[in-house]
Amino acid sequence: MSSKDWIEKDFYAVLGVDKAASADDIKKAYRKVARESHPDHNPGDPKAEERFKAASEAYNVLSDSGRRREYDEMRSLFGSGAFRRNARGGGQPGGMPFDVSDMFGGGGGGDRRFGGAGFQDLFSSIFSGGQAGGQAAPRGPARGRDVETEVALDFGDAVRGVTLPLTLRAPGVCDTCHGNGAKPGTQPQTCPVCHGAGVTTRNQGSFSFSEPCRNCQGVGTVVEEKCPECHGSGGVTKTRTMNVRFPAGVADGQRIRLAGRGEPGERGGPAGDLFVHVKVRPDELFGRTGDDVTLTVPVTFAEAVLGTDLRVPTLDGAVTLRVPPGTPSGRVLRARGKGVVRRDGQAGDLLVTLDVVVPARLSDEARTALESFAEQTPPAAREHLDARVRRVS
Ligand SMILES: [Zn+2]
Ligand SMILES: [Zn+2]
Repeated sequence: MSSKDWIEKDFYAVLGVDKAASADDIKKAYRKVARESHPDHNPGDPKAEERFKAASEAYNVLSDSGRRREYDEMRSLFGSGAFRRNARGGGQPGGMPFDVSDMFGGGGGGDRRFGGAGFQDLFSSIFSGGQAGGQAAPRGPARGRDVETEVALDFGDAVRGVTLPLTLRAPGVCDTCHGNGAKPGTQPQTCPVCHGAGVTTRNQGSFSFSEPCRNCQGVGTVVEEKCPECHGSGGVTKTRTMNVRFPAGVADGQRIRLAGRGEPGERGGPAGDLFVHVKVRPDELFGRTGDDVTLTVPVTFAEAVLGTDLRVPTLDGAVTLRVPPGTPSGRVLRARGKGVVRRDGQAGDLLVTLDVVVPARLSDEARTALESFAEQTPPAAREHLDARVRRVS
């Protein structure tokens, strides 16, 4: 989560609480929203899921008194959300005619500082009057950020369970310049415009506004010779790879939480969580309903009428199913235990749906035989329909 998010999101509104709400009220409100919007209670409802995520994000910040204070300070500095890209409230109190993208690198300029994640530190250095980015006043331990990622699994892997290496990219501090953006051997210089404060004050009518210094982008320092590694941004994209075990039976759309596998905490704080969104690629033969695996098998009319033994594939072999004589189209046969095997050893079934196929063409011999069959077969049982037809016509 970036500080830009902080500016644009009203966490109090998300939880439906007042800005002055107590920690207890916030906890209660969060529990209520989380309960109502939990994905388990709202399967396949993207709005509920969105709400659930937003509530977790809001609670993450508001439940931590330090982060809540930073959030409040940032929101008041930037005018409580009136401050947005394309915001029109140029002259209003609280609405600042300043494009957030200037500051957050949305314009793609080479001077941007950390692509988001580092901003919390940047702002805390502003608020604590720090002279340079990365030299924030000491704060308590902070929990690492939660990380969301998406993984596509093959149908068979999802059914059987699989361990996959997962590569995550996250912004980190440049090791060459330790985040100050200056070429090794040089130092960032105090910004001549804001004299290191990172903010400038501007008067407009009877209002006075503080805004992040445009010259140094709020950092308080400027870099004359840029670090060759990060091109002066102080941040680099770091990748880390970990093996993630997906349990047998994981389903499409499921969200797996791996506690403590998110971004590392700061100053001894616990790591955040990793949330993995699972997509399961469809199989060309099999479908799935919960722990049952489904398969549709075409049979001829003669097979359905006379009965037959069918050899059908399962997920890991084949099985013979007896089709009794006189089996109607659409009948579902069950091969017990041939579905998804879960970790507790219980298994779903393979559900085989018989689809009686009507031939589009017949040979002359087949037609003759069928006509002779028809003559010797009682008519279909639709007297009740014929009676209704007579009554209405
Ligand atoms: Zn660097
Ligand atoms: Zn400045």
